[in-house]
Amino acid sequence: MKLLLILIGVLAVTTLAGATDTQIFSTSAGPVKITPLYHASTLIEAGGKTIYLDPAKPAKLSGLPKADLILITHIHPDHMDPDSIKEISKAGTEILAAQSVVDTVTSAKPVSNGETKNWQGWTIEAVPAYNLKRGPAPGQLFHPKGRDNGYVLTYGGKRFYFSGDTEDVPEMRAALKDIDVAFVCMNLPYTMPPEEAAEAVKAFHPKIVIPYHYRGSDLKIFQKALEGTGIEVRLLNWYPQG
Ligand code: ZN
Ligand code: ZN
Repeated sequence: MKLLLILIGVLAVTTLAGATDTQIFSTSAGPVKITPLYHASTLIEAGGKTIYLDPAKPAKLSGLPKADLILITHIHPDHMDPDSIKEISKAGTEILAAQSVVDTVTSAKPVSNGETKNWQGWTIEAVPAYNLKRGPAPGQLFHPKGRDNGYVLTYGGKRFYFSGDTEDVPEMRAALKDIDVAFVCMNLPYTMPPEEAAEAVKAFHPKIVIPYHYRGSDLKIFQKALEGTGIEVRLLNWYPQG
């Protein structure tokens, strides 16, 4: 019986470890655990609190802890999904999002480009995320400037950047400082190709970069472009369901 229990325990641990690419980062306030869920959907755990960034279908949320805080970058359905928000919400869940999200998810509090909020030991800074040239039709952009957010999240002295949907805008190249871990989008036609993402990353030079929201992109191009820069490229599986 005892052996069986140990065996079940080992299997459970192995299954969990194999199911996700959870990353653990040490900070002066304790470890920050970051788990890729799907595409842009991310689970962040620290100090007994649970944060989700852009929880959206088809990220599997059942069995995961309920959210203390949900951060949403913008209104596109791969980022803002009222069903997923409902699934992980509990009494007291707080939501911070761009104003255009608040228009739909009315329980959310708005945070705009350049604004900073403090929450449970975290500093949450909304930063610009937008297209310079790509859009659905001439004269239109998928992500117009000022509407959508990226986020710089600081906890225990470590700075985590989540790009949201953006091209390599000047605010990303020049204004991001001392980023420890950068989660950077790349996919066409909506954001930018891996070459362009790599150029932007070179400019703000995080210690570690993790591509996310990369469906259809060749990550080898991104990796190669950053060889020899001293920036560690970590590849995680953001598309576990295929
Ligand atoms: Zn988008
Ligand atoms: Zn997107």
